[in-house]
Amino acid sequence: MREEDRKPIGLLGGTFDPIHYGHLRLAEEARVRLGLQRVCLIPAGRPAHRSAPQAPAADRLAMARLAAQGNPAFEVIALEAESPQPSYTVPTLERLRERFGAARPLVLLVGADAFLGLASWHRWRELFDLAHLAVATRPGHDLDAAALPALLAGELERRQARDAGELAAVPAGRILPFSITALDISATAIRRMLAQGDSIRYLLPDAALDYIDRNHLYQAS
Ligand code: ATP
Repeated sequence: MREEDRKPIGLLGGTFDPIHYGHLRLAEEARVRLGLQRVCLIPAGRPAHRSAPQAPAADRLAMARLAAQGNPAFEVIALEAESPQPSYTVPTLERLRERFGAARPLVLLVGADAFLGLASWHRWRELFDLAHLAVATRPGHDLDAAALPALLAGELERRQARDAGELAAVPAGRILPFSITALDISATAIRRMLAQGDSIRYLLPDAALDYIDRNHLYQAS
């Protein structure tokens, strides 16, 4: 088997409502720092544990594809966006395990805010049988042990990896916090700016911005 085909695969799920440079830097910095073979971007269909996205799944998927184009290490997976079922991470990971095989290290990439809410996810403890978790810093969200809910602090203590090499050595089960360039960009802020008629240029790729304009997404009602 080629060396490339043994490298871990990164998985970045999100509502991507819309996708922005905070997501893309997270994916790119994780790819390089964690030695990932590629990063799969997985727009949620109907997210299970948050309010309904503003833009339809087909539009969020289209924007993710436009944002990822030109980077051969990014792949957009339509599995959740094209399903009418609510999107849950653990069942998605089970499907991806079937595709990538039992031995391949899979690394679920999350920002610090998503990690802090992990214990509310459906079947969250099973996640560690299926993938590693790499937790990226995000402005405004504190990853210090003292700031973590007790359940998560316990998991982190048990599972924390020292470096990316430990993620490459086994298929699943470790947690690696890592820091990335701080970009204080959120989809919520982008939607709010659009509704107010502000410019959002340079917060997300031009191709995604053009799509928003052409399809009149996120306008004030
Ligand atoms: P919203 O504001 O609508 O909640 P969001 O900007 O947080 O959206 P999501 O699609 O919910 O975007 O995020 C997908 C993943 O990307 C999550 O794990 C989130 O923590 C991470 N993420 C999003 N923006 C950033 C950022 N600026 N820095 C680091 N991680 C980020």
